[in-house]
Amino acid sequence: MSIKQALISVSDKTGVVELASALHQLDIMILSTGGTAKLLQEASIPVIEVSDYTGFPEMLDGRVKTLHPKVHAGILARMDLPAHQQAMAQAQIPAIDLIVVNLYPFTSTIARQDCTVEEAIENIDIGGPTMIRAAAKNFQRVTVVTDPQDYEPLLEQIRSNNGSVDHDYRFKLAQKAFSHTARYDGAISNYLTALESSTGQRKPFPDQFNLSFTLTQSLRYGENPHQQAAFYRDAADITGSLADYNQLQGKALSYNNIADTDAALACVRTFDKPACVIIKHANPCGVAIADNPLAAYKKAFTTDPVSAFGGIIAINRAVEADLAKAVLQQFVEVIIAPEFSMEARQLLAGKSNIRVLTVSLGAHGNLYDLKRVDGGLLVQTPDDLNLTANQLRVVTQVKPTDAQIEDCLFAWRVAKFVKSNTIVFCSNGQTLGIGAGQMSRVDSARIASIKAEQVHLDLHGSVVASDAFFPFRDGLDVLAQAGAKAVIQPGGSIRDEEVIAAANEQGIAMIFTGVRHFRH
Ligand code: 5GP
Repeated sequence: MSIKQALISVSDKTGVVELASALHQLDIMILSTGGTAKLLQEASIPVIEVSDYTGFPEMLDGRVKTLHPKVHAGILARMDLPAHQQAMAQAQIPAIDLIVVNLYPFTSTIARQDCTVEEAIENIDIGGPTMIRAAAKNFQRVTVVTDPQDYEPLLEQIRSNNGSVDHDYRFKLAQKAFSHTARYDGAISNYLTALESSTGQRKPFPDQFNLSFTLTQSLRYGENPHQQAAFYRDAADITGSLADYNQLQGKALSYNNIADTDAALACVRTFDKPACVIIKHANPCGVAIADNPLAAYKKAFTTDPVSAFGGIIAINRAVEADLAKAVLQQFVEVIIAPEFSMEARQLLAGKSNIRVLTVSLGAHGNLYDLKRVDGGLLVQTPDDLNLTANQLRVVTQVKPTDAQIEDCLFAWRVAKFVKSNTIVFCSNGQTLGIGAGQMSRVDSARIASIKAEQVHLDLHGSVVASDAFFPFRDGLDVLAQAGAKAVIQPGGSIRDEEVIAAANEQGIAMIFTGVRHFRH
């Protein structure tokens, strides 16, 4: 059945003039609401205002615009049923075959710092979802478009199908339409249930946690080849996040590639200076800051060249030819940066297996950290605490030098991105040995010093970060033996006195942060 009458009512007016003009040229009658109608009329596209069509003016400040039987029967009628046909004829209601609607911008409204509950509520669209749901329910006859990205494909369909839309395509659009309204209601529900009361006081967490993610990529397999996997994108506005990555070359990303790239990106984006992070199995195996990205990469690579083999590299600056050349000496799975120069791209293209990605670094992280547990979900706010020098407390007789404090802050920052128990040796803005993911802190300390030894990195005069307190002095003794001269750690153990005494005994400066960075 060819499309004869369309209703267009959109808040996001992107591309709507072009769409309406094309529909008009295809002899399709256009009904439209106030703001949309005005815009189309200004572009000299003939439209009928819904209020003229129903004979009922928009009322209650726009709360009631399209909520009228002439609109909803027009959408919901099944023209394959004689009884429906008869009822429509009797009421003199023509069928509406195409609905183009997107909703009041609820999420961007509530994202504003100064948004009041009243404003949020006024931005709950009522008529829009009603039309979308009605049209999607009746997809056997009606086409429903909720995304400006679909305008062009829709027009192609109409043009190549003699004025109608293919059944499978209508079904696909209906699926998308219900996802659109579900997401919309999910956002409203999340917002309202997070309020303590209707006055706007916010609770830290909603009573019910609604998630909405959209499939963005099917993956060949999961962490292991016998596991199925896919990548979903947060339905909230997350432009500029990893889920929006742009791939310049290389094979499709795997599940582990994405997970590791996420870890690399999270770490590298916290540094102001040019920085490089190399990740293996979700842990940094080399992190460095320097005056330029090439120097940062070289320093990060030196920490653990064996582990860096097949690693994920993240840089927080544009990658130029010099860095591309250096990276080509290594086997690398993924390199991600905000941009790559033309020359760097051409060089990297020589090794087409390397996955080269760009992503914007300015984006904020997620609002919540989520972890599935059996039959449930653990939710927490992300660990976005970044310590500054004035929050540190020196607890030993030996005081750290300014350079040591700076390195301690660097080591502390890196430690946040290493799985617990974490011990990180550093000097001059470079990791020297990283001990990760051990069940005992003393083992992490041993591993970190062994790793440095293996590549002949000198730990004498180094600084060390420990992500949580030392429960006994044994961990600190390992660091002292390895040559550490300053240690940064949270403090707070019942044996702090014993650990401080051990530091004093061995001429080590020790700093307490008062906070820890567990990461599991
Ligand atoms: P316009 O800018 O054309 O005046 O309004 C477009 C918006 O109005 C669309 O986002 C659409 O979803 C919404 N809308 C359409 N009909 C109704 C209605 O009856 N009530 C409410 N609250 N919103 C509607």
